[in-house]
Amino acid sequence: MQSQDYDKTKDNIRVRFAPSPTGYLHIGGARTAIYNWLFAKKHKGVFILRIEDTDIERSTTDSIQGIIDGLDWLGLNWDEGPYFQSKYIEEHKKAAMRLVETGHAYKCFCTKEELDVKRKAALAAKQSVQYDRTCRRLTSEAIAAKEAQGIPYVIRFKVPEQQGAVYFNDSVYGPIEKQYQDIEDFVIVRSDGSPLYLLSNAVDDIRDGITHVIRGQDGLANTPRQILIYEALGARPPVFAHMPLTLDLKKRKISKRTHGELVSVQFYRDHGFLPWALVNYLVLLGWHTPDDREIFSREELIDAFSLEGIGRANSIFNYTPGDPKFFTDPKALSINSHFLRTLPIEEIAESVKEEFITAGIWDPAYDGTKRQWFLATLDLIRSRFHTFKDFADMGRAYFSEDFPVDPKAFKKNVLKHEDLKDWLPQLADRMEQIDAWTVETTEEVIRVFAQGLEVKPGIIINAIRTVVTGQLAGPGIFDVLKAIGKDRVVKRLRGVRELFTKHRESSLQSIKG
Ligand code: GLU
Repeated sequence: MQSQDYDKTKDNIRVRFAPSPTGYLHIGGARTAIYNWLFAKKHKGVFILRIEDTDIERSTTDSIQGIIDGLDWLGLNWDEGPYFQSKYIEEHKKAAMRLVETGHAYKCFCTKEELDVKRKAALAAKQSVQYDRTCRRLTSEAIAAKEAQGIPYVIRFKVPEQQGAVYFNDSVYGPIEKQYQDIEDFVIVRSDGSPLYLLSNAVDDIRDGITHVIRGQDGLANTPRQILIYEALGARPPVFAHMPLTLDLKKRKISKRTHGELVSVQFYRDHGFLPWALVNYLVLLGWHTPDDREIFSREELIDAFSLEGIGRANSIFNYTPGDPKFFTDPKALSINSHFLRTLPIEEIAESVKEEFITAGIWDPAYDGTKRQWFLATLDLIRSRFHTFKDFADMGRAYFSEDFPVDPKAFKKNVLKHEDLKDWLPQLADRMEQIDAWTVETTEEVIRVFAQGLEVKPGIIINAIRTVVTGQLAGPGIFDVLKAIGKDRVVKRLRGVRELFTKHRESSLQSIKG
């Protein structure tokens, strides 16, 4: 038995993301969703969201909502669904009954105790521990008699007894073969009448007309049995593509249990990521571009993506929980930074607005009279930023009078010369006289001032940067001064003495503390 490929140009491609909602959407799940979404977009197919919520106890409404919100935020719009697996349980049971009627499955009345005894005996004799198919040989009278007595039963699938194997060609792992003799007559319905996941998943895929199952590598073990179910139900098996695992630097599978919130999509949203940057980063975890390219627009990615480009090696999420330097893989930050630097500033502005509202520094005039200034300032400061948070943190001095001063910058740039606390207020007086506040006029005044003191302009400029922006580095200082504006610059330069005092107090405190 061989599953065949579909003609992607003629067949209507249908794929699904089928999460079990047992927690938030984590980056491993998001990657599977992205691959499905890209594949559907590329082949003008249909992307379905199916929530596999049959584990009622673990499927909470919160986690279902978390998955939907995560997909929404990432921009992975689905064409059909969400379908809920729990709504189709009757259909799964009917499919099992149909398999019994058509001779592809049978009722098994063996009790757990009987099975345990057989298993132990087989183990002791070093024989196969597979179910010995006792009930497969029951006559219809024997079955009827057991049913009449009300003996509970499970339903088992009849795996072919002749020589042969299930073959399929996984788009990632290549040709796979599983001998029939290595497959037990597996249970598809429990004795309480509930269908097993293996069955429900296949029946749903058949009903939803799924042509390509793109899922995590942990699904690989189910595939041969699912192909048997497909064929017994008279359906054509889909193409399977199993994604390699995503591991952290310690080679642990990315999971909620090990990594907690740090691997949730929500976490990235809260940490100032651009959704597309996260999509772009995640898609590279396991998928190789022909030319090692790393940055894609939506259209470019849809165009470039193929299942064939997915490697078999486990992909590494280059991150160690608890590393204080980075909260994520530096590559994710660099991709996010790329988009922050290069997207049209209007696109950036909306997310910065949210950040500013949260940080309490949003001024409604940024949407009105100060719009031009707001956009130009974001454009000026964004070049070194990695996340939206940086606009409200490192960029705070542009938008608020209440901004932190990096102690490192203070030590390096301001404390270097005690004289600066006299110089900067003097410079402020000169700057106050400037009529036309431009890049050229401020530069001229600062250079003449430094010359007069016979100090290098750099000493003055670095001190100005720290006092005016709180930062050690940033865009060209004269552009910075223009953006911050005369009044605020003059005021901050005059306030340098207070900064000295504050700094001294805090250093004293840290010595005492
Ligand atoms: N519900 C399964 C999971 O979350 C998906 C399996 C599949 O895609 O077939 O792992």
